[in-house]
Amino acid sequence: MHGTSVSGKIIDGKAFAEGLRGRIALEVADLKARHGFVPGLAVVLVGEDPASQVYVRNKAKQTVETGMASFEHKLSRETGQAELLRLVEQLNADPQVNGILVQLPLPRQIDPQAVLDAIDPAKDVDGFHVVNAGRLATGGKALVPCTPLGCLMLLKDRLGELSGKRAIVLGRSNIVGKPMAQLLLGESCTVTIAHSRTRDLPGECRRAEIVVAAVGKPEMVRGDWIQPGATVIDVGINRIERDGKAKLVGDVAYDEAVEVAGAITPVPGGVGPMTIACLLQNTLTAARRQRGLAA
Ligand code: NDP
Repeated sequence: MHGTSVSGKIIDGKAFAEGLRGRIALEVADLKARHGFVPGLAVVLVGEDPASQVYVRNKAKQTVETGMASFEHKLSRETGQAELLRLVEQLNADPQVNGILVQLPLPRQIDPQAVLDAIDPAKDVDGFHVVNAGRLATGGKALVPCTPLGCLMLLKDRLGELSGKRAIVLGRSNIVGKPMAQLLLGESCTVTIAHSRTRDLPGECRRAEIVVAAVGKPEMVRGDWIQPGATVIDVGINRIERDGKAKLVGDVAYDEAVEVAGAITPVPGGVGPMTIACLLQNTLTAARRQRGLAA
C-alpha cells in the first residue's frame, strides 16, 4: 500500500450506501413484479427526542425511496410500557409489516429490553433480539445489527477475502462491538476484542491489520496506534467543539491515521450512511425469508 494517495485510501461509505440502496430498489421492484408484494418497515418513535426524530424521518424517506412501504408510529412521551407492547404485538401480527424497529432511547418508564424481547425475531431488523444475537454467535441465519453489517460490507469491498487477517474491535457493546467481532470471526479473522480494561491498547492495535473503532471517545485512536497499511473503520460519531465551531469527529484521529493506514473511513461519510442502507437490506432479507424466498 506504500505510496497510495490519500484520496485512494478513503473508503467512501456514502457512495457505497447509495449503490446498495440502488441494488435494494431493483430487488424490491423484482419482488413486486414476480411475487406481487412490497416489503414493509414499521418504525416506532416514542417521545420527541430531536436526534431520534431526524433518524426516523431519514429511515422513512429512504424506505419509500427504495420502493418499500413505510409505516410510522409516533407515540407521546407519556406512553406506558403496556401500550407500546400492544403496538409491537399488533405489528408482529400484521402481514404487511416485515420489519419492526423501535427507535432507542425510550422514555424512562419503559424497559427497552422488554420491548426488544417482544419483537418477533423474524421481523427484528435491528438484530437486537437475543434470538438473533444467539444465531449470529452460533453461525445461524440471523438478522445482523445494521452498523456492524455495514462495516463488514465496507471491509469486504475494500479487502476482498478477510480470512486469516488479524482484526481488533475496540468496544464491546451489544449493538456494535460484540456483533462486529462475531462477524469478523465468521469471516475467519483472528479477532481481539478490546475495551476500557484492556492493557496497552496502542500495542494491541498496532498488531492488527483491521481496526474497527467503536468506543465513543473523540479521536482516541492515534496515528501511531495504526500498523502501516492497516484498514481502519471508524464507527464513532462524536460532536465536539473546536475553534468555537461544532464539529463531528470519529473515534480515530483521522488526520494522523490517514497518513499511516492503507484505507480508512472518514467521519462523516464513512460508516454512518451504511447504517440506514443496512436497515433497508435487513428489511428486504426479513421479507424474503418470511415469504420462504432465498435470502
Ligand atoms: P457504548 O458506549 O455502548 O460502548 C463503548 C465501548 O467502548 C464499551 O465497550 C467501552 O468499554 C469501550 N470504551 C470506552 N472507553 C474506552 C477506552 N478509553 N478504551 C477502550 N475502550 C473503551 O457505545 P456504542 O457501541 O453504542 O457506540 C460506540 C460509538 O459508535 C459511539 O461513538 C456511537 O456514537 C457510535 N455509533 C455509530 C453508529 C453509526 O451509525 N455510525 C451506530 C451506533 C453507534 P467497557 O465495556 O469496558 O465500558
